Amino acid sequence: MDNVRRKVKIVCIGAGASGLFFALNCADDDHEVVLLDSNRKAGRKMYISGKGRCNITNNCDTKGFIRNVIRNPKFLYGAINRFKPSDTIDFFNEHGCPLKTERGNRVFPMSDKSSDIIDCLVKECRKKKVDIRFEQKVTKIEKKDDYFIIFTKDQKYIADKLVIATGGKSYPSTGSTGDGYLFAKQFGHTITELKSALCPIRIRESISNDMLKMTLKNVSLTAKNDHFSKTIFGDMEFLKGCITGPIVLSMSSLINRETDMELSLDFKPALDEKKLDNRLLREIQGSPNKDVRHLLTTLLPREIIGFFIENTDTDPELPLHSLTKETRQQLLNDLKHFCLSYQGLEDIDKGIVTSGGVDVNEIDPKTMGSKLCKDLYFIGEVLDVDALTGGFNLQIALSTAYSCAQGILSE
Ligand SMILES: Cc1cc2nc3c(=O)[nH]c(=O)nc-3n(C[C@H](O)[C@H](O)[C@H](O)COP(=O)(O)OP(=O)(O)OC[C@H]3O[C@@H](n4cnc5c(N)ncnc54)[C@H](O)[C@@H]3O)c2cc1C
Repeated sequence: MDNVRRKVKIVCIGAGASGLFFALNCADDDHEVVLLDSNRKAGRKMYISGKGRCNITNNCDTKGFIRNVIRNPKFLYGAINRFKPSDTIDFFNEHGCPLKTERGNRVFPMSDKSSDIIDCLVKECRKKKVDIRFEQKVTKIEKKDDYFIIFTKDQKYIADKLVIATGGKSYPSTGSTGDGYLFAKQFGHTITELKSALCPIRIRESISNDMLKMTLKNVSLTAKNDHFSKTIFGDMEFLKGCITGPIVLSMSSLINRETDMELSLDFKPALDEKKLDNRLLREIQGSPNKDVRHLLTTLLPREIIGFFIENTDTDPELPLHSLTKETRQQLLNDLKHFCLSYQGLEDIDKGIVTSGGVDVNEIDPKTMGSKLCKDLYFIGEVLDVDALTGGFNLQIALSTAYSCAQGILSE
């Protein structure tokens, strides 16, 4: 009798955040993991994440985490609970990559280098004897009765189980070109509509070169239509033809399935209308012979004043002593409800994440296994899950990867 147990052969497509973390958690004496990536190096998207610093997770509890998930928070609850942000922090601290927590509970490597996170994951994969193969873009998959054949340009891999960790469709130069959606469709999976998320918002107003260099601090951005209204407070920035920065990125994820949006800015959210009116009156009484342009310099950053004047009916030359109650009211209104003409979101390739993906109704939330095809799994951004900025998206990649590894190991 042959008592030697055959190793389970697993191929994982994608050596990004989720693929690497899956592999190092799953590879053991009974499970052989081959990790295939089209790039020459692992974790290309992680490398540019967090402006090169990699905001790897958010130091919060599961409930707090789930509040920051936009698509399918319920589906993710179990995975986040199984591998929490605190587990991520322990993992990296214990494996030679110490972390630190910054404002907003954002967690980064102590070194501020995303490469340290990637090196740590790759090193652990090597320790577990994961076979990482680069420049292996998967072009075709065939399913036989109880195994898969995975084709790249020059190789053929046989696997008992197949994990798809190919990421989303944004920033395609990092290797995430959306191939996972095609593979999923091949196995009968539904792909929900793909949308840009955490991306700049296009506006019609022209942006001056001065504005490109500034951060507009502590403002409120409101987006609304006939059934939706949301206001976000914080900082924003300008690009040619676009607004961007933290509050804009968050807003884009909230409105990417809405149409006919109206956008407006409150330049003075800390002052209600009465307080702002009193402030205007004080300034006017203090310098009656100065003009409206001067008044604006006391209220707005220098770089934005031309933009404000150009896009409102404000007369900058008007002496303050001749300001009527109506013109003062109009000025107040423009400061509190400055309209921006919404032209839609930037294209999907410019989003930090892709919203939409493999329909989670067809995925077992405990193991990330396909309900339609035995031995097939999906982890990370290829799934229809996305969250706000702050380290949540990478944690989703790690938590779904962990659940998948545990699911396979417990079989
Ligand atoms: C600019 C930017 C900054 C970001 N900053 C942060 C941040 O600070 N914090 C945060 O939480 N999230 C951040 N994100 C989002 C986060 O990086 C992603 O959500 C995360 O990397 C998704 O992990 P993944 O494993 O699902 O996919 P990826 O990390 O994209 O990995 C997918 C891998 O699959 C490979 N692949 C794809 N198709 C094939 C194929 N056919 N054959 C072989 N290999 C293939 C790709 O080459 C790639 O290596 C950022 C994203 C961007 C673009």
